[in-house]
Amino acid sequence: MFDTLSDRLTSALQTLRGKGKLTDADIDATAREIRIALLEADVALPVVREFIAQIKQRAKGAEVSGALNPAQQVVKIVNEELIGILGGETRRLNLAKNPPTVIMLAGLQGAGKTTLAGKLALWLKKQGHAPLLVACDLQRPNAVTQLQVVGERAGVTTFAPEPGNGVGDPVEVARRGVEEARHAQHDVVIVDTAGRLGVDEELMRQAADIRDAVKPDETLFVVDAMIGQDAVTTAEAFRDGVGFTGVVLTKLDGDARGGAALSVRQVTGQPILFASNGEKLDDFDIFHPDRMASRILG
Ligand code: GDP
Repeated sequence: MFDTLSDRLTSALQTLRGKGKLTDADIDATAREIRIALLEADVALPVVREFIAQIKQRAKGAEVSGALNPAQQVVKIVNEELIGILGGETRRLNLAKNPPTVIMLAGLQGAGKTTLAGKLALWLKKQGHAPLLVACDLQRPNAVTQLQVVGERAGVTTFAPEPGNGVGDPVEVARRGVEEARHAQHDVVIVDTAGRLGVDEELMRQAADIRDAVKPDETLFVVDAMIGQDAVTTAEAFRDGVGFTGVVLTKLDGDARGGAALSVRQVTGQPILFASNGEKLDDFDIFHPDRMASRILG
């Protein structure tokens, strides 16, 4: 996903190699290259500005230490700042002290929510949890069936409205799903919600109503890393309309620039918890800012 960004950053930093001493002009020139690399990768402008300002300030003020030559020192600073915009420490899933933990998924249609619900359920199951999937996307035809299918593949139960039993209200389904989890000893509930092709008020209201009904311990904003700058505007809309406690980046296996998704943490202030990188249920992992930074820096 970040191959181009990675190549550009590596070549921007390459020019510093072999220099015994860095002048301010060297640092400015490198910072310019890094800026172009980030903008080309679709990283949001305010994030780029802050990043570059930090790099310049830290690189110019850096003491030349014994172990690292000046170029290595700049690489170290860029790495640390990259980890910083990606969220610093890995943030673990927040599990409720009194189960069930309720995790609500929100995001645009096609972001990968339903797939993620299965991935997360499988991942939790492997850790000894007993998750329950709850199908609250009653908007998209087949969304309920799709969730049941991923649930079966993950080997977990799906709670869905029975056809014809009068439950057509996603808020009611969410509420009953959490009740069902209590009865059937599921310690984690994953609530899949409806997405729309674009942000709209009804979608936001429905998601906010579900949130109010089930009081999630985590609301995860699921975002397709390939959608470019829309990732940032959509994140802002969901932050304001529903609020979320964490981000999941999907489709990191795609060959797009991806920088916009990397800006979501900085723009919304919420951490990236998981990364999804394929269509198979185990193409999924905890998001580690430090590992991602190393991958980007090559
Ligand atoms: P939803 O509308 O948000 O529930 O999205 P879906 O879970 O239905 O996913 C939309 C499409 O993206 C499906 O074709 C998925 O197979 C695909 N998809 C989901 N996650 C990933 C991923 O990490 N990588 C790739 N390549 N495809 C994915």
